[in-house]
Amino acid sequence: MNAGEEMLPVTPTRAQQAAKARLVKELGEADFALPGSLVVESQRCGKPSCACHHDPPKLHGPYARWTRKIDNKTVTRLLTDEEVAQYRPLFENAKRLRRLLADLQQLTMEMVDAPSTPPRHRSQADRT
Ligand SMILES: [Zn+2]
Repeated sequence: MNAGEEMLPVTPTRAQQAAKARLVKELGEADFALPGSLVVESQRCGKPSCACHHDPPKLHGPYARWTRKIDNKTVTRLLTDEEVAQYRPLFENAKRLRRLLADLQQLTMEMVDAPSTPPRHRSQADRT
């Protein structure tokens, strides 16, 4: 038994053990990762007379924008095509890590909230 399991209110089932082992193994294969999100899209500018406001519009871009939070402020950086090619796997890695962590937390939540958790004072109630 791992040390972490002593902190749990219920003993993990075989399936939960297996799910955790799989997630931990995948987390163990983590690689370099970039925070934030990468969005590649065309856009309109602020000039009403510009071709991007015509019908049909001739949009600017596409531009690759890397958006992330720094000290609670959203910071955006434009990336070159070369940077997009280099960084995209790093965004994918981060996305995968977030998903694995969310899965692990969900799994643990299910155990903490398990309805099968015995009442804390059952032994006292049984005596009366
Ligand atoms: Zn424009």
